[in-house]
Amino acid sequence: MDQVVGFLGGGQLGRMTIEAANDLNIKCVVLDQGHSPAKQVLAHAEHVDGSFKDPASVKKLAEKCTTITVEIEHVDTYVMEEIEKDPNFRAKIEPHWQTIRTIQNKYNQKLHLHQHGVRTAEFEDLEGKSEEDIKTLGQKWGYPLMLKSKTEAYDGRGNFPVKSDADILEAMQALGGRPLYAERWANFKAEVAVMVVKAKNGEFAYPPVETVHEDSILKLVFAPARNVSKGVLQQAQKLATKAIGTFKGKGVYGVEMFLLEDDSLLVNEIAPRPHNSGHYTIEGCYMSQFQAHLHAILDLPIAQEDLELREPSIMLNILGGETTDSHEKVKMKALHITRKAHIHMYGKGPARKGRKMGHITVTAKTMAQAEALVQPIVDIADEVRG
Ligand code: ATP
Ligand code: MG
Ligand code: MG
Repeated sequence: MDQVVGFLGGGQLGRMTIEAANDLNIKCVVLDQGHSPAKQVLAHAEHVDGSFKDPASVKKLAEKCTTITVEIEHVDTYVMEEIEKDPNFRAKIEPHWQTIRTIQNKYNQKLHLHQHGVRTAEFEDLEGKSEEDIKTLGQKWGYPLMLKSKTEAYDGRGNFPVKSDADILEAMQALGGRPLYAERWANFKAEVAVMVVKAKNGEFAYPPVETVHEDSILKLVFAPARNVSKGVLQQAQKLATKAIGTFKGKGVYGVEMFLLEDDSLLVNEIAPRPHNSGHYTIEGCYMSQFQAHLHAILDLPIAQEDLELREPSIMLNILGGETTDSHEKVKMKALHITRKAHIHMYGKGPARKGRKMGHITVTAKTMAQAEALVQPIVDIADEVRG
């Protein structure tokens, strides 16, 4: 049988990876509910309708493919482990299920990084702990501190900044019922991210980018990172590569970092898959993160020079606004301004506030030109978000 790549998850990351696979006639199958964004760009009857958390559905997908990969980390890793150990399944799993299991629990992910000598913000388990225990942490670390859900976290849903003793109960209620841990606040001057590719022939790093979050949701990405010295950029690539070196399995990984006032770096978190901070690579680099992911998991050629930046790039997320279609204004603005704004809509249907509906990447000869081009689009995006 020819190679077939199976995707756990059919959101925008799967969609853009399949767009890259389509260019190479690589067959893909998607497991997700309904007519999800990834299924829309690949018409055939083999996709599996179900949940990536449901063992029977995952096995159904596994029977149809030669390689299984993920576009989301919140999957059932126990059935992945079973598939790996069962000789009746031929499908390889990339990255390794152990990697996904460790990363999908942010507390275990931090423990893993700590054990491997990768610096993160200080953190404490809160399971079985009370309001009083969190107050004690507040005294020890000072406020603000971040309460985080260990599991099922994305786009800041699962984080609650605690600014004083008075916030603790509200925070515990807001994240009620979820397994929690606390993180010491990182007083960062910037956030940077590096996409790392783990392939048969080694690890390769994309250029470090600057990420700007609003309400814990990624808003803008500047590639290359602005106002950061060459030395710090090199450190960021080195730290990201070191962090990914501790995990098993091929594919692309996103490494989010905090750059502190003294120019030292902490790892915030890791994604074992293509990542929003790497969307700029579609137009910004010779090889996109989605192509790189396919090349890595299928042992196709890949080299460091493929990951070089072609032109300074800025990515803007198109987030849902007050109404189900208000985000369309952002797209229309970009459409009317310049062909240097590359639009990617995800086919998600009606929007909810703050949901990622698409993104735009502006590329230009200089970062200053890219900034000037993107600003009017950012203004509309701000208006839409309210
Ligand atoms: P993602 O969509 O990236 O997976 P997430 O829900 O996993 O997001 P985090 O990456 O933990 O959330 O946090 C989102 C943002 O919140 C960070 O990028 C940063 O801006 C802020 N943040 C998180 N942890 C801290 C911290 N310890 N100190 C200061 N700011 C923080
Ligand atoms: Mg996350
Ligand atoms: Mg994050």
